[in-house]
Amino acid sequence: MIPTLPIMETFYSIQGEGFYQGHAAFFIRLAGCDVGCVWCDVKESWDAGQHKLRSIDSLLDEVKSSETEIVIITGGEPLMYDCSPLTTALQTAGYKTHLETSAAYALSGQWDWICVSPKKFKAPLDEVLAKANELKVVVYNKSDFDWALKHAAGVSEDCLLYLQPEWSKEKEMLPLMTDFIQKNPQWKLSLQIHKYMGVR
Ligand code: SF4
Repeated sequence: MIPTLPIMETFYSIQGEGFYQGHAAFFIRLAGCDVGCVWCDVKESWDAGQHKLRSIDSLLDEVKSSETEIVIITGGEPLMYDCSPLTTALQTAGYKTHLETSAAYALSGQWDWICVSPKKFKAPLDEVLAKANELKVVVYNKSDFDWALKHAAGVSEDCLLYLQPEWSKEKEMLPLMTDFIQKNPQWKLSLQIHKYMGVR
């Protein structure tokens, strides 16, 4: 059987967040998520049944039509699926595979970079947090700082730590985030520059 995945959208853009901010990247957004973040900006991804199944081959062909070196698998929640066939095909073709996940499901796939953005609505798994290259905590209210520190205790020593304001709370949270980062300089600020740029 040809492996397929439910895909909400694919696009070639600029990574707007975290350590790879500013890098050209091809995005594959898997459909399906049951984490239920109240501020989710891709709620249309939640119901996988609303989106087409696509073969790994067709996704790979589309990636090859771009000049990208990096393919970012995002969602939705990609780890609801076995990511091994897709990531193996991409790495075999020479691409770097990056994952964006809430870590709510067990890790599958072969990854060059794992960004974990844990969510309060469905707890992250310890074993996925431990494999993160980058921890990105979305700051929606003041209690998220303590929550960020709690999850930072579960990542590896080399893991990069980012705070990112939730888009609608940015003006309110940025002064508090600046203060937190000045007191905890191991944390860095991530802004969603693709939203400032008006691109996906
Ligand atoms: Fe939305 Fe991501 Fe939260 Fe799922 S994990 S509800 S896709 S923000």
